[in-house]
Amino acid sequence: MSVLLEFRDVSASYNGAIAALHGVNLTLHDGEFAALLGANGAGKTTLLKAASNLLPAERGRITKGQILFDGQDVTAHDPADHVRRGLVPVLEGRRCFKTLSIEENLITGALGKGLGRSAIADGLEQIYDLFPRLKERRKVAAGLTSGGEQQMAAIGRGLMARPRLFVLDEPSMGLAPLVVAEIFAALSRLNRDTGLTLLVAEQNSAVALRHAQHATVIENGRSVLQGRAVDLAARHDIRDSYLGGA
Ligand code: ATP
Repeated sequence: MSVLLEFRDVSASYNGAIAALHGVNLTLHDGEFAALLGANGAGKTTLLKAASNLLPAERGRITKGQILFDGQDVTAHDPADHVRRGLVPVLEGRRCFKTLSIEENLITGALGKGLGRSAIADGLEQIYDLFPRLKERRKVAAGLTSGGEQQMAAIGRGLMARPRLFVLDEPSMGLAPLVVAEIFAALSRLNRDTGLTLLVAEQNSAVALRHAQHATVIENGRSVLQGRAVDLAARHDIRDSYLGGA
């Protein structure tokens, strides 16, 4: 398997203050479902934003190291350019356009990709197959749907941009266990059936380790542990040491 995303000794900080990431190394292979684990404030969101070059919007920046996507140095690339290349982040929780319908929200994900009508219809079909609830709710304003439906719509909108690497931040946040299970099952299915590469940050380590193949644990901005998800899941000490008992 070829390497799709690589962090080489990456440090990042906000407002020129104390670093949020300290020399992080991470390798993600094409077709892998990888989890990024760590307690609250460990640096997961910062790492995902660094990968997508979204830090400048928050007065953050990469101070050291290199990020490679598909073999190319993308450390200072424009976020829109990342999306065009296939690195699609879903980072803002389940932020939807509240007054637009679920279907309109999904279609916004295809904007900027120059997709034609039939490609958009195919994309919608794929998403409705993955999340049948969204099909039922497609005409409803997103603001009137549940948190789980909004999270599914945010994921669906990202998929409409046809990612090669899909980067998700805490898809489980604030959702009931059954909905979390449904969302992770859909992500697993996508990975298995289409080979989509996934990097998913999660505080809910149990559910993430059940679905991902690999995991990286970060603590205080450092990657402290990497390995196969099954191996990490078997290590009960990890939860207590690094994941805040999550
Ligand atoms: P959480 O699950 O709470 O989002 P996290 O693992 O994603 O945690 P980050 O949000 O990446 O952690 O935060 C890492 C560190 O960077 C923390 O010390 C946090 O206070 C700091 N930080 C995050 N965002 C900003 C910001 N916009 N400005 C300044 N400091 C920030």
